[in-house]
Amino acid sequence: MSVLFADRIRFFDTTLRDGEQTPGVSLKPEQKLEIATKLAAIGIDVIEAGSAAASEGEQSAIRLISEAGLPSEICTYVRALPGDIDLAAEYGADSVHLVVPVSDLHIAKKMRKTREQVAEMAYAAIKLAKERGLIVELSGEDASRADQQFLNELFSKGVQRGADRLCFCDTVGLLTPEKTALMIPPLAKIAPLSIHCHDDLGMALANTLAALKCGATCAHVTVNGLGERAGNTAFEELVMALEVLYGYQTGIKKEEIYHLASLVSRLTGVPLPVNKAVVGEMAFTHESGIHAHGVMREPATYESIKPEMIGRKRRIVLGKHSGSASVEAALHEMNYSTDEAQLKEIVKRIKQMGDEGKRVSDADLMAIADAVLAIECKPVIRMRQFTTVSGSNMIPTASATLVVNGQEITGAATGDGPVDAAMQVLRKSVGDVADIRLEEYHVDAISGGTDALVEVTVRLSKDGKIITSRGARTDIIMASVEAMIAGMNRLLRETHEDRGKNPR
Ligand code: MN
Repeated sequence: MSVLFADRIRFFDTTLRDGEQTPGVSLKPEQKLEIATKLAAIGIDVIEAGSAAASEGEQSAIRLISEAGLPSEICTYVRALPGDIDLAAEYGADSVHLVVPVSDLHIAKKMRKTREQVAEMAYAAIKLAKERGLIVELSGEDASRADQQFLNELFSKGVQRGADRLCFCDTVGLLTPEKTALMIPPLAKIAPLSIHCHDDLGMALANTLAALKCGATCAHVTVNGLGERAGNTAFEELVMALEVLYGYQTGIKKEEIYHLASLVSRLTGVPLPVNKAVVGEMAFTHESGIHAHGVMREPATYESIKPEMIGRKRRIVLGKHSGSASVEAALHEMNYSTDEAQLKEIVKRIKQMGDEGKRVSDADLMAIADAVLAIECKPVIRMRQFTTVSGSNMIPTASATLVVNGQEITGAATGDGPVDAAMQVLRKSVGDVADIRLEEYHVDAISGGTDALVEVTVRLSKDGKIITSRGARTDIIMASVEAMIAGMNRLLRETHEDRGKNPR
């Protein structure tokens, strides 16, 4: 099935360069190193670490990553300017992504030069880069709108002068798979060719696959499809499309994909769109009763790939659409077991909450289940009072009084913000009882507007056991506190009680 593709497709990741050009994104050198380390570990061939000419921060990032001894090739973006190439060599990059405008629009309007002048600049830059011992990937910017004969000549002469590889940039996302099939084959004959696509019209993945099918041997990608404007070809989508739809073995450690996506989202501050393919929050979440039922009997009914493949888990959310099968599964995950009548009653109460427009958080489900099963189960932790204060001229502070194992504990803590302060005071208060760590914190606004219901998801761990817990409120701090307390109670209770047994 994979005969059309190169024996080995290479991945050139530009999350740290094109991805960082996403409006509003700026990464510190240490953050870039953290991402680069993960990119290398997952199997990326080339990491474009930044643009040395852009800033001092970029320069330190490139040096830091180049000196980290990662197994990937470390590349730097350069223009056809001697100064850029000197900087690339100085900061230790293995290669340069030498970008040269090739469409008449870019040559005349942006550069105010002629085709000949731009070509000469490119050749001189190649010569200098080779003298500096750099691998050269000669890249045609706006190649999809360029005169293809001029581009072919520039690429051929560039290779004669020492360029090692070439790259076709669809800079503003104007390719179609059909155009790609016409433009790529003659260029791919000149030297190993990369394809760099943008997603302005949602075509980046299709165009990248089309180019790889007809001669390109390397794909430029970004994690989560970050990049200028609508972004670049998404790494995770390309890998999964190649593997699942074309049966192509990419060699990428797929089970690390979700972890990488979450890391990049957290460090860049760009949230994953909830409905994003492969890595979006909802990609493996089921609410509808009938669908959830099908998925639990046979995941293939409503899932194209198994979530475990990319290091994720299926999630069943409860609401008014929930059927008894999904409620039972959620209860099972929390160690409850019910008979038919009890389950029916729990489902009825959940649907009532759903009809009132409420999301059923874990704390709600536990409260309902405990009530229906009449479990005499005193929570380990109960909250007496809780206050946060924050403002423009003060350090956000939270105070809380909790009853932990029957003992009243009052504490206060400061934080980076009111939510952080709240998390700190809760952890501090139970610190004597157990070492509970907050592994992950995630917020979703369920609807738009400042009065929106906010769902907070926390992942907590204790002695290697990890649980996920949720809280849903219109108040983000209270949703966080609710998720935290419900989760801590679960972690503490499950260690000394099996709540699965029905006492009646
Ligand atoms: Mn680009």
